[in-house]
Amino acid sequence: MTVIFSGIKPSGELTLGNYLGAMAQFITYQEEEAYFCIVNQHAITVPQEAVELRLRTRSLAALYLASGLDPQKVTIFIQSEVPAHAQLAWIMMSLSQMGELERMTQYKEKAGNLHESIPAGLLMYPPFMAADILLYQADAVPVGDDQQQHLELTRTLAQRFNYRFGETFKLPVAATAKEATRVMSLQDPLKKMSKSAEDSGTILLLDSPAVVTKKIKRAVTDSENKLYYDLVNKPGISNLLSIYAAISGLSVMEIELKYQEVQGYGQFKVDLAALVVGLLAPIQAHYERIMAGSELDDILSAGAQRAALVANKNLLRAEEAMGLARHK
Ligand code: ATP
Ligand code: MG
Repeated sequence: MTVIFSGIKPSGELTLGNYLGAMAQFITYQEEEAYFCIVNQHAITVPQEAVELRLRTRSLAALYLASGLDPQKVTIFIQSEVPAHAQLAWIMMSLSQMGELERMTQYKEKAGNLHESIPAGLLMYPPFMAADILLYQADAVPVGDDQQQHLELTRTLAQRFNYRFGETFKLPVAATAKEATRVMSLQDPLKKMSKSAEDSGTILLLDSPAVVTKKIKRAVTDSENKLYYDLVNKPGISNLLSIYAAISGLSVMEIELKYQEVQGYGQFKVDLAALVVGLLAPIQAHYERIMAGSELDDILSAGAQRAALVANKNLLRAEEAMGLARHK
C-alpha cells in the first residue's frame, strides 16, 4: 500500500484553490494508508488570533470530513496533538542550511508581505513540513503546484539524513492534480488564490451560491471576448477555464469548442458559477451536519493516537540513527 500524507493550514477560510489543488485529490487516496493533517503549527508562522485559530482548526477538520474523507479509512488529526512532528522538525532544521531556506519562493513572498519583523518560524516552515511528511515514510504528497519547491527540499533533507546517518527515510514525491494545480485570484489572475490573502477574487468553500455567482461574474477577463486558453495573454480567462475543466471533467479544448459559437464571456461565466455552486452545495450541507454533531472530537482524538503510533516509531529510528537516543 502506498503511504500518503498531506496537510492544510488553518490560516484562513478554505478556498476553491485548496479544494481543487489539494482536497479533491485527498479523497482519491482513501484506499491507501493516508494521513491528513490540520497543520496548525504551520499556521502560527504568521501571527494568528488564538480564538480564531481554534475555530478555524475545527472548521478545517469538519471540511476534511465534509469533502468526503472517511475517518474509518484515513487518519485525520491535528499537528500539535502529535508532538513527534515538532521533534523531528528540530532535527530537519538542524540539517537545513540558511541559504537554501532563504531561497524558498514562498518564504520570500510571505516575508515580503510582512513589512515589519519576520517571524523566524516562517523561514523554518519548509524543514518542519519535511518532518511532517518523513515521519510517516510517505510515498506521495498530494499538494498544489506551489508546494513543489518544498517537496524538493523534503527530498534533499531526507537524502542528506540518509547519507549522513544511514538509510532511514523514504523520498516522497509530490502528487499534483491534472487541472487547477494553481488556481489564481479572480481579481488578479497573476496572484495565487490564498486563504491568508483573501479578497473579492477568492472563492471560499463556504461562500453562499449568491456570493459565488457574484464573484465569478465580476472575475477579471479581457476585452477580446473569445474563449480560449492562453496563459500569457489571457490569464483571467485561462484561470476560469482551468477551474471549469477541473470541476466538469471536460478538457480545456472541449470547453473551448462548446463555447465556440457563443458571443462574449457571459454565458460561460453563468455556467461556471453553476458548476462551482453545484460542487460546493453538498460539501456545505455535510459541513453543517458535522459542525452540529458531536463526533468531531472523537475522530480527532482517535486520529492523533493512530498517527502518533507511526510517527513515534519513525522519530525513534531517526534519533537512534543520529545518536540522540540513549540506546540503539
Ligand atoms: P496560506 O495563504 O496561509 O499559505 P493557502 O491557501 O496557500 O494558505 P496552504 O495551507 O498553504 O493554503 O496549502 C494547502 C494546500 O492547498 C497545499 O497543497 C497547496 O498547494 C494547496 N493550494 C493552496 N492554494 C492553492 C491554489 N491557489 N491552487 C491550487 N492549490 C492550492
Ligand atoms: Mg500556502
